[in-house]
Amino acid sequence: MNANEVLRELEESSRPPTHGRRRREFLKFCGRMAAILGLSKAFIPKIAKAVERTARDGRPSVVWLEFQDCAGNTESFTRATAPSVAEAVLDLISLDYHEVLMAPSGSAAEERLREVLKKYSGQIIVVVEGSIPTKDGGIYCTVGGRSALQIIEEVEPHALAFVAVGTCAAFGGLPKANPNPTGAVAVEDVVKSKPVINLPGCPANPDVIMALLVHYALFGRLPALDAQRRPKFAYGKKIHDNCERRPHYDAGQFVLSFDDFGAKQGYCLYKVGCKGPVTYNVCSSWRWNMDASWPVKAGHPCLGCSERDFWDRMTPFYSHVQAAGFGVESDADDVGKVAVGLTAASVAAHALYTAVVRSAERFAERLAEKEETEEEDEE
Ligand code: SF4
Repeated sequence: MNANEVLRELEESSRPPTHGRRRREFLKFCGRMAAILGLSKAFIPKIAKAVERTARDGRPSVVWLEFQDCAGNTESFTRATAPSVAEAVLDLISLDYHEVLMAPSGSAAEERLREVLKKYSGQIIVVVEGSIPTKDGGIYCTVGGRSALQIIEEVEPHALAFVAVGTCAAFGGLPKANPNPTGAVAVEDVVKSKPVINLPGCPANPDVIMALLVHYALFGRLPALDAQRRPKFAYGKKIHDNCERRPHYDAGQFVLSFDDFGAKQGYCLYKVGCKGPVTYNVCSSWRWNMDASWPVKAGHPCLGCSERDFWDRMTPFYSHVQAAGFGVESDADDVGKVAVGLTAASVAAHALYTAVVRSAERFAERLAEKEETEEEDEE
């Protein structure tokens, strides 16, 4: 039984009772993906068709490797809460090897990896979670008696592309932090013959992972990347740009300690260490757990976890950013005096994003209703 089959069994037990409801959720998921990828509503049925076509004609094989990590990205990926989301993901890929999710263990699991490499050679999307230790021959992370370095060497010739999911795989993360006792490096430091896509974050947002897969299913190619190999659709803006606390930043209203008046009023967390102004990620727009919340909404400053070397550059975590080179436009004490015009712009940006997503979801619901009416007419 591969990881897909295990997940499908789990999913069957929690599947909503009616086909109509599942279809609606699926189309809403397609609407959300269209909004995230910056595509018009006209792409919603195209996304649905692309997912269905991929499910019918053959899903790309995915091998998910775990090295120096906490499995937080796997947690994030499998905690997609809407049944249709899990369904869509399983329709988009064949998760053929994943140490945490697959049923085989020990030598049977390693045998499975060899089978998959042979069967799908050249077509495999290799997802790597965790950094790769290189010191002392790479002995600080071994799986089945082979080091992470040796496993990468074995897998690389068979891969179509690598996806470095989470900050440890993308940039080295916590294991690479000074003094880096294991000589940890990122996937891009080791893989030289295949494309590497970085999805940093601790963990990466599951919507980003899914949008990447949807983009591949829809266009048959990888999305545009920035200079740090991150998809532009997800890492093109700072967290600060769409933050709901931004009006307080612009008005000079800050939390000064975690239980003060400002904390209770939802003021900006910049002075208790928020790194949102220097961090490129989607958290303030796409949030977590079906848009329910994210750290800043819950009252905790952004730690800048998706930035390169964040553990060294963003600490101390609860002091505000003043280091040179971070590009913070002004000291927070001066902000309220100069940024009044930005308040309206930032609020408008967030509202616009929310409106686009809601509009896409409403469009998807209408599409589902139309499909249901047509089905009833045919009957
Ligand atoms: S500093 Fe942090 S809390 Fe304040 S507006 Fe920016 S992202 Fe939001």
